[in-house]
Amino acid sequence: MQHLLALPGVRRESFPARMFGAERTHFSKLDVNCGIRKMYRFFHEETNKTITLFESIDSSPLVPILFFHSSVLMNYVDAREVVSFYSSLTEDSIGLANDHPRFDLIHKPGLRSKWLARGVETGADCSTLHSVHAAGTSGINVATCQRAYRRTDDLWMTRLAFEGGTRRTVKPVLSWQLGRRAVAHGREGLQPGTVHASDDNWHMRTFKREGLWVEYYAPLDPTTGEVVGAWWRRCFP
Ligand SMILES: [Zn+2]
Repeated sequence: MQHLLALPGVRRESFPARMFGAERTHFSKLDVNCGIRKMYRFFHEETNKTITLFESIDSSPLVPILFFHSSVLMNYVDAREVVSFYSSLTEDSIGLANDHPRFDLIHKPGLRSKWLARGVETGADCSTLHSVHAAGTSGINVATCQRAYRRTDDLWMTRLAFEGGTRRTVKPVLSWQLGRRAVAHGREGLQPGTVHASDDNWHMRTFKREGLWVEYYAPLDPTTGEVVGAWWRRCFP
């Protein structure tokens, strides 16, 4: 943040926010406020551009990316390399949906139509791409399948290093599965995606039945001081 604010013409947009506490259990894992602890906004006065910075709810900065609404957004640049988790589909302007039963509550309205207008499909179901989902020997490219379990150090991502040498995966390693359509008890519904730290065994170490409490911030209406649903959704890209 200091580097951003040191640039000429960049200022931080301030808006009130309220802290909430949520229990992180073995079952909820990192699914607390879609992995976002706090949002920061910066405005560049010369170009009128806005930069949004999300602080992760966990020690891995990649957690919020894996809660984005489509695989087409699941890419990152760090000091050493550019990484795309679903590069082949992204290159074809196709994103797998990261579905969620409360999709309309946690994402901005009109997201998908905005991307469609740019020629990018963000809500694909992998059942339209293959009839057998990716598994050990199916031969299906894991990076085209919503049903696949992925890791941030797996071999299915595309990594483009700025310089030669050993690539280093951002730690801790995360594993995830996208949200998708699923059938349970004969009825079709939406199964939310899951994200967790691969080596995270805090629930084993503590020997406690209860979870850990984590903090996150929701933006408030400055006039009423209340959390406003429409504003809340702005948290998520
Ligand atoms: Zn699939």
